[in-house]
Amino acid sequence: MERRCSGELVYDCFPALSSVSWLFHGCFTRKGGVSTGPFQGLNAGVSSGDDGESVAANREAILRESGGSDLVVLSQVHGNAVHVHAGPELGPVEADAVVTDRPGAMLTILTADCQAVVLVDPVRKVVANAHAGWRGSVAGVLSATVSVMKDRFDCRPEDLLAGIGPSLGPCCAEFVHYKKELPRVFCTHRVGFNHFDFWAISRDQLCDAGLAASNIAAAQLCTRCDEEHYYSYRRSHTTGRMATVIGIKPTAA
Ligand SMILES: [Zn+2]
Repeated sequence: MERRCSGELVYDCFPALSSVSWLFHGCFTRKGGVSTGPFQGLNAGVSSGDDGESVAANREAILRESGGSDLVVLSQVHGNAVHVHAGPELGPVEADAVVTDRPGAMLTILTADCQAVVLVDPVRKVVANAHAGWRGSVAGVLSATVSVMKDRFDCRPEDLLAGIGPSLGPCCAEFVHYKKELPRVFCTHRVGFNHFDFWAISRDQLCDAGLAASNIAAAQLCTRCDEEHYYSYRRSHTTGRMATVIGIKPTAA
């Protein structure tokens, strides 16, 4: 990962994606921002009890840094629904992944331990962002996202570049009830007694969807282990949400 600092903001980028000239992407850390208390920093989530004006100011700072015209934020429900963003939404959209080819629209996934997985098709100029917690992984949200890119935008999976953002690592992804909660195939990436490597699980799922392994990068940064930079739901249930953003720069229109 490349770590970028812009004023107070600190965010991580995937080098392969940074080489796409018309693309903005960033996995924002909690650094910068105006939220206080358990939300200290750049909290972009409204549902955990933070002050609405602080969250709005934080989102404004993220949008400004992205250079986009709007942040597209979903009502995330840990499912596998994929939203195709074609213009300004009239109301909340319940989905866990979003795809667009619209310049200026900055697709935003909010997380505190779950993965945000960004995807770009450099050939067709299409971007996607998916929310993959363990429930989303079980539900197949990544393959659903790639399917929509194929079916609706004519993307070829072998062209896609993917980045798996900072999230719960194998060090901290303990699943005491894994036999009930996780499919048997995930046991390929069981670590020790009951920990799981969800970075590897997502990599496998993306490969199964047709991506080249060499086109998939994982940040390999654990959110629970680094309190200075990340919110973590497993560390503290009352916490903020990091924003991971990807979009086509408006100038590329
Ligand atoms: Zn950890």
